[in-house]
Amino acid sequence: MLFTGEAGIGKQTTAMNFAMAVHCQTPGPMADNVSFSGTKHIDPCGACRPCRKIASGNHPDIHCVAPSGAYIRIDAIRGLCEAISLRPTEGEMRVALIADAHLMNAEAGNALLKALEEPPGKTVFILTAPQAADILPTIVSRCRQIRFSPIPEDRLIEYLIDDAGLLQQDACAIARLAGGSIGAALALSGNREIIEHRKQVIDNMEMIFRGPRGSDLQWAETLAADREKALLYLEIMKSWLRDLAVFPVSPDRIVNSDDRSRISEKAGRLEKKQLLEKLDAIWQTERSLQCNARPRLAMEALFMKLAK
Ligand SMILES: [Zn+2]
Repeated sequence: MLFTGEAGIGKQTTAMNFAMAVHCQTPGPMADNVSFSGTKHIDPCGACRPCRKIASGNHPDIHCVAPSGAYIRIDAIRGLCEAISLRPTEGEMRVALIADAHLMNAEAGNALLKALEEPPGKTVFILTAPQAADILPTIVSRCRQIRFSPIPEDRLIEYLIDDAGLLQQDACAIARLAGGSIGAALALSGNREIIEHRKQVIDNMEMIFRGPRGSDLQWAETLAADREKALLYLEIMKSWLRDLAVFPVSPDRIVNSDDRSRISEKAGRLEKKQLLEKLDAIWQTERSLQCNARPRLAMEALFMKLAK
């Protein structure tokens, strides 16, 4: 199976739940549980021995491979293939999870392809990636693709209030910034600084639009020191640019609704083409940061593009 969708949307959580559901000794009743999409599902208990072993990463029949550094290398895939060539030790079924499969280098991808062409018995492969286009087509054609949609904003707000204990107003702001990703929402809710600095980030970006200044380079350096923070700030920048594009057509759908008067003032000033170019520059920067590009260079290049 190939699970595709944005980061933090629940692909790996679902993969682990699947592994648990396969091995759980006391699963919940099947018929009474209805999932998000309305289909029946098996609820693993999360408490029995196999469930606990899977949760702690110690189940001998669950094999996980993830990138080390920027890539998944051939050694990791070889190790996986070796492990699954043996009989399953505890359970009936083995699960081979390859997280961020788009980061396999060509050698690793080809090694995996061989395993998929002649799969060992009783083994389910689960690959996760942002989109199928990022993976070798020969691999994709051997997978059943399951697309993960962003979580609707109202469900995310509900979750942040009920399960993460957030106040209504914070939950709303975070849900908007998280763009349907529960992982992003949780990362944001643990980071008050980001929420409180949202206006500052937007102010700084507005200044950059007016032309390059010395202090922008300093800001680039500060952001570059913390990759995770840089990615969140880029998310805030995107939400602002998106608002500028959305406002003229549907003003009630803006994300930064507490900054409405400024958005209405700025919305007409940038042409659509310019807005899209700036958004595109941010997307590219996100990608290069995720691929371990040198953060400072990436941020400086972005600021130059934003200032154009
Ligand atoms: Zn269980």
